[in-house]
Amino acid sequence: MKITSAELIISAAKDHQFPGGPFPEVALSGRSNVGKSSFINTLLARKGLARTSQKPGKTQTLNFYFLNDRFHFVDVPGYGYAKVSKKEREAWGRVMESYFTHREQLKGVIQLVDARHKPTEDDIMMYDWLKYHELPVIIVATKVDKIPKGKWDKHVSNIKKELKLHDEDPVILFSSETAYGKDRAWKEITRLLF
Ligand code: GDP
Repeated sequence: MKITSAELIISAAKDHQFPGGPFPEVALSGRSNVGKSSFINTLLARKGLARTSQKPGKTQTLNFYFLNDRFHFVDVPGYGYAKVSKKEREAWGRVMESYFTHREQLKGVIQLVDARHKPTEDDIMMYDWLKYHELPVIIVATKVDKIPKGKWDKHVSNIKKELKLHDEDPVILFSSETAYGKDRAWKEITRLLF
């Protein structure tokens, strides 16, 4: 897909700040440092639109990007931080719960995992939680440029096995260094959105 306009419309800390309107959206979720900002910037062919790695301690927000005046990407903060207080974590948990369970515009979730490693406990918990809420998921396995090609199939089958991936959920190998996987990612995202 060619992106002709891309704008960060709001960084929402509370659910009343979520934008209205009929536009379909996909959310992007993953452990911090997995390569989520790089993925967004590669897909949108824009450098630095999505900030890389939100720092621990910073207010957690859902960042809504409005694309081609037609749909949203919603950047969900990276999970797996240690440095957030219990109270903050609980408050944020409620915002996330409300987003993922009540947001009618949400058509599915892109969950990013690191292609090099086994999915973490947090990755598995997140995937289970998304499936519990019956959301379609696209798994994007990042940093594939760091794995020799001959091992790609093996890494994909490990990811499927560890996540107990549902048959309908695709795994896309991706590299923001080479843009490998970009076309396939757009194809799957378009299928979710429209
Ligand atoms: P985020 O915290 O999930 O938003 O992760 P970032 O996009 O900030 O990426 C974290 C680090 O991984 C940065 O140093 C990136 O340059 C690097 N990185 C992200 N994607 C790739 C990739 O596909 N290949 C390689 N080799 N490095 C990547």
